[in-house]
Amino acid sequence: MTLERLWAGWRAEYVGSAAIAQAPTGSHDCLFCRLLAADPDEALVIARGEHAFAVMNAYPYTSGHLMVAPTRHEADLEHLEPAEASAIMTLTQHAVAALKGAYSPDGINVGVNIGRPAGAGVPGHVHVHALPRWNGDTNFMTTVAETRVLPEDLPSSWKRLRAAWPV
Ligand SMILES: [Zn+2]
Repeated sequence: MTLERLWAGWRAEYVGSAAIAQAPTGSHDCLFCRLLAADPDEALVIARGEHAFAVMNAYPYTSGHLMVAPTRHEADLEHLEPAEASAIMTLTQHAVAALKGAYSPDGINVGVNIGRPAGAGVPGHVHVHALPRWNGDTNFMTTVAETRVLPEDLPSSWKRLRAAWPV
């Protein structure tokens, strides 16, 4: 499967499936809140707790690219409650463990994009990216031709990560 991607490295952002992107969210317009309101399987939610959830990135930079976000709509990392920040870090740890278990990658990126100039595509709802990296994955095709070959479809990545999730 050959897909064209805008080069943004690990800053690649969630855009969302057409169905979920068009679902109503009520008082505000937010992809992450739509994901929470959607059917968890359709939204490709991997794990969900009271304060945080993990979900596949519909436009992955690499296979296995997922995101962890608070269940509460909050833009600012510094305004997360301690319980929310703790839940996000715990899920991020689980994500790293699952990525290692499912993919045995050469490396992993974990990061937060704060504000559009930093690469945030959904700046209104803070989220952590976690994705596996491979030796040579920033190759000529990626950086110059802006074309990537993704070896796995999203539901397959979702199943692999769920199977490898530590709890
Ligand atoms: Zn939101």
